[in-house]
Amino acid sequence: VRTPIIAGNWKMNMNPSETAEFVKAVKDNLPSADSVESVIAAPAVDLPALLENAKGSELKVAAENCYFEDKGAFTGETSPKVLKDMGVDYVIIGHSERRDYFHETDEDINKKAHAIFQNGLLPIICCGESLETREAGEAEEWVSRQVKAALKGLSANQVGQLVIAYEPIWAIGTGKTASADQAEEICAVIRKTVASLYDQTVADKVRIQYGGSVKPANVKELMAKEDIDGGLVGGASLVPESFLQLVHFKD
Ligand code: 13P
Repeated sequence: VRTPIIAGNWKMNMNPSETAEFVKAVKDNLPSADSVESVIAAPAVDLPALLENAKGSELKVAAENCYFEDKGAFTGETSPKVLKDMGVDYVIIGHSERRDYFHETDEDINKKAHAIFQNGLLPIICCGESLETREAGEAEEWVSRQVKAALKGLSANQVGQLVIAYEPIWAIGTGKTASADQAEEICAVIRKTVASLYDQTVADKVRIQYGGSVKPANVKELMAKEDIDGGLVGGASLVPESFLQLVHFKD
């Protein structure tokens, strides 16, 4: 029994006052976190506004990225230790935008996963193939390799707690959702990969999200799939009404 987890990934779209308004609009209408976990991932500069306004509500808070060192001479980076101090719950790592535009490697992502656990936070680890890779028939192999690289050296106990987000790059911000069957196919491969690295008990605990043009109109069909335990949502998470519809997909 995995608790579904719907996370909005705001990317670089909101300011602190918009953040405060958004949280005020949703905070009293969220499902109980044991039924569906509701998460917003915001830019580091918006996290204080997000945390302050979400206090006492069912809303959990994620950062969109962090560095793999706790402190030091790393100009412009965000410390996972500070995120923990602030009250953040999750950190998204390895988003395809970070891999593509900011040249993050599998090795960086693995170091970040370790640093996140060391600080008592939980990672949402993103993976996903390009259209070119999919058309070459290599999507399963690609994603499985990304997952193996990200999890290197993590304990079974750690892996059982984390979240993996499958986001095919060709479905992000394109309005072109993977079909529920296509999404399920790769999410099942991810679970098998975790089972092969650890065991079935660990694999059964990992929550796997699908991301890429998730919206109120398609969330139910995706969430009905065996290996899809949540959504990582960009565009449709920016509007309170649509975020509420997403987290209430069971109703
Ligand atoms: P969209 O929902 O806008 O396609 O973005 C998906 C995504 O990248 C979430 O991390």
